[in-house]
Amino acid sequence: MSAQTEVIPSETARKQAYEAGKLAKRLRHQVGQAVADFNMIEDGDKVMVCLSGGKDSYTMLDILLSLQAKAPVRFELIAVNLDQKQPGFPEHVLPQYLTERGVPFHIIEQDTYSTVTRVIPEGKTMCSLCSRLRRGALYHWAAANGVTKIALGHHRDDLLGTFFLNLFYQGSLKAMPPKLRSDDGRHVVIRPLAYCKESDIAEYATYRQFPIIPCNLCGSQENLQRKAVSQMMHEWERQHPGRSETMFRALGNVAPSQLADRQLFDFASLGSREGAARADVHGWLAGNEGDNH
Ligand code: SF4
Repeated sequence: MSAQTEVIPSETARKQAYEAGKLAKRLRHQVGQAVADFNMIEDGDKVMVCLSGGKDSYTMLDILLSLQAKAPVRFELIAVNLDQKQPGFPEHVLPQYLTERGVPFHIIEQDTYSTVTRVIPEGKTMCSLCSRLRRGALYHWAAANGVTKIALGHHRDDLLGTFFLNLFYQGSLKAMPPKLRSDDGRHVVIRPLAYCKESDIAEYATYRQFPIIPCNLCGSQENLQRKAVSQMMHEWERQHPGRSETMFRALGNVAPSQLADRQLFDFASLGSREGAARADVHGWLAGNEGDNH
């Protein structure tokens, strides 16, 4: 082997390591920023990191662990996975990974797979019921174990995708918030990857060689609407790089007076002289009613 051929791989490796370092720094910065902007984690929190075995949740755990080591506040992290008893689920993978990394964890075993396949007709998408059952199991465990924050691995493109799904199919302007209180009021859910783009996460997961568990074990059909929205966003990003970031910024830059939601902005009082306008209208209506007689 010539001296020249030996140099090329090491140069490539150095470049790769440099790029990976930049990527890790960017992700840590974005997670730190989201955590600070939305006050996601406070001193004394017990944060349950929901770990599915996909690239997003591995990345979330990895970045939260590095932030935990440097954060000025003290908080606890516990990784929790729900083993839904899907056929072929490699149940040793997560415990092995978490043990090796020294991360406290718990595996909830609950056969939601049988319930979902029994209730949902064959060929229909099972995700809606599956997610509800999964959420129920995780929230239940959180309540019984003193968890103060539940961390989910949704990223910027999930938040944006949900925004478009609601816009196109529900006629409402709402996305997936970086932080929310659960419907039953008992839990605070946080999404530390809210500022991170999916392609960065995918690259990071590859670089870190997380032992990914495939997400198609259940055999469910993909949600076609979500798939269409995702393709639309990819195409936009391809044709107009940076568009997703601009659209995401819009979610935090809302002008209620420039929309048409009367609950959000008091259009009725606009221009009224301390209610005089309304009184005028009522008086005018009353007068007209009288004219009709
Ligand atoms: S893809 Fe499968 S495991 Fe994931 S939410 Fe849908 S039904 Fe559940």
